[in-house]
Amino acid sequence: MSDLAVFDRYESEVRGYIRSFPVVFERAHGSVLVTEDGREFLDFFSGAGVVNYGHNNPVFTAALIEYLQSGGIIHGLDMATSAKRDFIEAFQRLVLAPRGLNYKIQFTGPTGANAVESALKLARQATGRQNVVAFTNGFHGLSLGALAATGNEKYRAAGGVSLGDVTRLPYDGYLGDGVDTLDLFERMLDDPGSGLDLPAAVIVETIQGEGGINVASPEWLRRLRTLTENRGILLIVDDIQSGVGRSGEFFSFEQSGIVPDLVTVSKSISASGLPMAILLMDPAIDVWKPGAHTGTFRGNNLAFVSARVAIETYWSDTAFTEVIVEREAQLRAALESIAAEFPVAEFTVRGRGLMYGLASTAHPELAGTVSQRAFERGVVIETSGARDEVLKFLPALTISAEELDRGLAVIRESLTAALAG
Ligand code: PLP
Repeated sequence: MSDLAVFDRYESEVRGYIRSFPVVFERAHGSVLVTEDGREFLDFFSGAGVVNYGHNNPVFTAALIEYLQSGGIIHGLDMATSAKRDFIEAFQRLVLAPRGLNYKIQFTGPTGANAVESALKLARQATGRQNVVAFTNGFHGLSLGALAATGNEKYRAAGGVSLGDVTRLPYDGYLGDGVDTLDLFERMLDDPGSGLDLPAAVIVETIQGEGGINVASPEWLRRLRTLTENRGILLIVDDIQSGVGRSGEFFSFEQSGIVPDLVTVSKSISASGLPMAILLMDPAIDVWKPGAHTGTFRGNNLAFVSARVAIETYWSDTAFTEVIVEREAQLRAALESIAAEFPVAEFTVRGRGLMYGLASTAHPELAGTVSQRAFERGVVIETSGARDEVLKFLPALTISAEELDRGLAVIRESLTAALAG
């Protein structure tokens, strides 16, 4: 029996990543994953952006052990607990206040999709409108409301019902350089014959993660903010993958200077890998009736502990963002040199912070082959994009310069191997 026999036999066909990385992982530290039989893999995937601060970061492990040993509340629904209060205070003081952001926090169910559901529900309630604008190649989760805003046909087909009340518009760059896709949105908003029902909200990722590392320009985001603001349309930034430092700043929209009405945050917010999601909202649109959006696991107090410690450790000054800037320069330079070295692949390099893609529209199968070859050589890296045509670099923000170089050298070798056939 192979190591994977139990999974093959008893786990649903729905399993996904296990197929790309067919080993049994047992332990992890920092940017290293270790299998049961002691093989080490360098992690360029970070649990799809969940472990931005590395696996088993000792700072969080120590705080979690201490909390567990002190008999701290683990599960609290949405009752008041010390751990929750301490997180809220730290988040207000070290994340929101220094950025001049005035948001109330909703603790949603612990998945990104649930934070998105909450944002969509609240926007619809607050405006009394149904329609929501989402963008091509957007990914917002797989529960039905979020799925309606998600572009990828494979996920949409799995829903089994019609996915309504969403109008899809072209994301920045979708129609090629030189076309501002917001011209279409503005024209449709102004034209009573366009067929576009005035939306309750627009939901957008500033950097599309699953959709292929497409980056919206600051100008495009600012225009989107102005268009929405002028018409009373709420702007939801889905920062589930690009938030919590991934883009180089805590929130991915900071670079553009826009202030969204609603922000969804999940994945790395707990910092330790424990499930947690929040919705940030302009207090003026907090029209929820008490208990109108509940969920059993909104009170994951262990997650609140590591979330607070992460904020206190990494976000009380700019030292962490300075390191991300250095690593980004290293990553971008390496990817550009890879693109230049392998012209046959026709790669485009795109991304921001430590969220980068090496995209080959001409050879969409290449990314998957490189991912497989890299895995054989000890690097875990995923693909994204509608055709899985993008090799997606999502290393931990805490990765060392040496580890990043080592992993990139493996990518080069893997690409050579993939092109050799
Ligand atoms: N939104 C974005 C931008 C995401 O990247 C994801 C997950 O990858 C989600 C929402 C959904 O999060 P979850 O898988 O936790 O439901």
